[in-house]
Amino acid sequence: MKVGILALQGSFAEHGVVLDKIKQPFVLVKTKQDLEGLTHLIIPGGESTTLEKLLKKSGLWEELEKKIKKKELKFFGTCAGAIIFSKLGMDLQVERNGYGAQQNSFVEKLESEMFPELGGVFIRAPRFKVQKNSKILARMGNEPVLIEQDKFLTSSFHPELIGETRVHEYFLKK
Ligand code: GLN
Repeated sequence: MKVGILALQGSFAEHGVVLDKIKQPFVLVKTKQDLEGLTHLIIPGGESTTLEKLLKKSGLWEELEKKIKKKELKFFGTCAGAIIFSKLGMDLQVERNGYGAQQNSFVEKLESEMFPELGGVFIRAPRFKVQKNSKILARMGNEPVLIEQDKFLTSSFHPELIGETRVHEYFLKK
């Protein structure tokens, strides 16, 4: 098993803190070469348009598209990371900033059988429209906010910002 965190922009350091906490070694991914041998890749929250530009500039975009087609890796995307996966070929429809602008950021209790008492930090979060082949692992009211689909796990909130480790642990067991 080899875990990578995309480290071009956004909350990659915070994902690293979670992996340190659960004693999971990882590499920071900045170039195509860094993808070599990975079994798991995390794309953090941040700003998806900037992330997309940087991914294209570094040549990582094309590589990831190929890997997603071949289903070579397991992918976890939080917030902007989820938006990137939807653009790269995951069967997920997202509405960017679907819960409002930065000033409408909020923290909310989520409903999840798998992760009781899960808390959600929402910062310009995308709203997910669930596709048929998806499993909803957490909701906020009626809204799906943590989705598993095949090799993907995507959250519209940020477990990495509140010291939550269970979602990462679940991802690594995938
Ligand atoms: N709304 C942002 C975007 O579109 C994502 C925000 C986030 O990752 N917290 O990129």
